[in-house]
Amino acid sequence: MKKVAVIGAGTMGNGIAHVFAMKGFEVNLCDISAEALDNAVKTIEKNLWRMVSKEKITERTKTDTLEQINTLTDLQQAVKDADLVIEAATENEDLKLKIFKQIDEHAPANCILASNTSSISITKIAAATTRPEKVIGMHFMNPVPVMKLVEVIRGYATDDDVTAKVMEVSKTLGKIPVEVNDYPGFVANRILLPMINEAISALHEGVAGVEQIDTVMKLGMAHPMGPLQLADFIGLDVCKSILEVLHDGFGNPKYAPNPLLANMVTAGKLGKKSGEGFYDYSGDSKTMIVSNKFK
Ligand code: NAD
Repeated sequence: MKKVAVIGAGTMGNGIAHVFAMKGFEVNLCDISAEALDNAVKTIEKNLWRMVSKEKITERTKTDTLEQINTLTDLQQAVKDADLVIEAATENEDLKLKIFKQIDEHAPANCILASNTSSISITKIAAATTRPEKVIGMHFMNPVPVMKLVEVIRGYATDDDVTAKVMEVSKTLGKIPVEVNDYPGFVANRILLPMINEAISALHEGVAGVEQIDTVMKLGMAHPMGPLQLADFIGLDVCKSILEVLHDGFGNPKYAPNPLLANMVTAGKLGKKSGEGFYDYSGDSKTMIVSNKFK
């Protein structure tokens, strides 16, 4: 594999482009928004500078990495010579099915098509293409240049050979790939989201306050971040939608989003990105202040 196309240049797409380019892959980074592409390149440059200043890479590596990245708004051009396409566009099922149909039409016949989706069925995405055996999940974690894990998700039809190639390319990036099967939430979110939902239930029932719940999980379980703070970082709307995927997929009421979570999303309190969730982010970013609502 030499040429990689990354579709979607947001939070995850720019990180994925960064790690592939740093290992010498030629990367076509594609987004419908020219502004998103500009921001992605600025973010990659800023992150590479940080690595230079920490003496993790040389200035030469930074320059070479940036040279490996082409930005495009035309998907057909972006995928036409690719060996591997990684889709990291907005988490919306209809959109992803449409993008995969387009990629399938224009990418070379032997090209592997991967999705970075957090929760949409790889088997369903694969069924939108004429090559379901070449469709796979590559679930990178945020921030991509830092986090080691790649959850490699085999759809119902994914070939052994395709899985082996994706495991290998993930290792080339310096990541640790873990192979899992395609069931709702895969492994990471199937386990993480019920924990977050349970933390919200404990808060909702008045078992303990925001800081108390997060402190118990940080100090007691050695988690670097408490579940309520983590929920704010992921985005409460994203948490709710992943819980709904688990709830719909398994039909088990234990996955139903807690009513407090649903209320907060309806009220537009989405966590860090909206300025308020369980914590208030309107002040100094270094200080964690519990939202007035939970004081
Ligand atoms: P984001 O909103 O930051 O970026 C999505 C980008 O996709 C935007 O720039 C948008 O312009 C672009 N896009 C939309 N439609 C497009 C199209 N038709 N063609 C090309 N580009 C298009 O989203 P994100 O947080 O980077 O998430 C991307 C994917 O990664 C989602 O599937 C998400 O579930 C998954 N994911 C996110 C995280 C996370 O922590 N943010 C972690 C793991 C996986």
